[in-house]
Amino acid sequence: MKEKEKIYEGKAKILYKGPEKNTAIQYFKDDATAFNNLKKSTIEGKGIFNNKISEHIFKKLNQIGIKTHLIKKLGEREQLIYMAEIIPLEFIVRNIATGSLTKKLGIADGTVLSKPLLEYSYKNDELGDPLVAREHITEFNWALSTELDLINNHCLKINSFMQEMFKNVGIKLVDFKLEFGRASINGKKEILLADEISPDTCRLWDMVSEKKLDKDRFRKDLGNVIEAYQEVAARLGIGR
Ligand code: 5GP
Repeated sequence: MKEKEKIYEGKAKILYKGPEKNTAIQYFKDDATAFNNLKKSTIEGKGIFNNKISEHIFKKLNQIGIKTHLIKKLGEREQLIYMAEIIPLEFIVRNIATGSLTKKLGIADGTVLSKPLLEYSYKNDELGDPLVAREHITEFNWALSTELDLINNHCLKINSFMQEMFKNVGIKLVDFKLEFGRASINGKKEILLADEISPDTCRLWDMVSEKKLDKDRFRKDLGNVIEAYQEVAARLGIGR
C-alpha cells in the first residue's frame, strides 16, 4: 500500500493527505499531553475511543444542522475529513466552573453557571493558549465578526445538544473545547466544526458521584484513564 503523506503531526492526532485535493485523513494517536506539553504519556487504546466518540457526536451534530469536517470513519483510528483552514482559536464552553476558570479568576470549583459561558483562547503553544476577547480576534484578523457570530451560535447549539445527550446517559457536561475551520465544499465557502469532541476535549462528570470521566483523570493522576473513556463510549451505546 502507498505510504500516506503526512501534512501535520499534533499532540494527539496526525493529519495525512486524503484521496481528493480537499480531503485529509485524521489519525487518532494514543499520546496524551497536558499542561502545554509538560506532562506526556501514552494511554493504550485512547485514540480508538476518541475516534469512535468523536465520530458519533459529529454525526449527531450534522443531523441538527451543524456542518462538520467529518466525511466518514475509515478505520479504528482514522477518519476521512474535509481539509479546512483552522481558525487559530479554541472556543471553550462552560456550564460549571472548574479548571482554568477557577484558577484564573478564583471562582469556587463546581459553581454552576447561570448560563453557558463562552471563552476564546488564541491557539499558540508558545504563549500557552491565552484567553482573548472578541476585540483581539477581529483586530488581529483571526476571524471576521460575521464568522464569530455564526460560530458563537453553533457553540451554544452544540452545548444544548450535548448537555441533553450526556444527561440521558447520566453524565454532566461540565465544559468543552471546539475548533472551527474554513473550507470550500462544492465551490461553496463553509465554516466547519473541526478537530474532535471526545473525553480529551470535554470535562464529563458522572451525574450522581461526580466521578471524572475525561482527560482530567490523566491531568490529575487519578488513574483508570482508559476505563473512563471506555465507560463514556459504553454509555453512549458505542462500546465494543
Ligand atoms: P480549561 O481552560 O479549564 O483548561 O479547559 C476547558 C475545557 O476545554 C476542558 O474541557 C479542556 O479539556 C478543554 N481544553 C482547553 N484547552 C485544551 C487543549 O489545548 N487541548 C484539549 N484537548 N482540550 C482543551
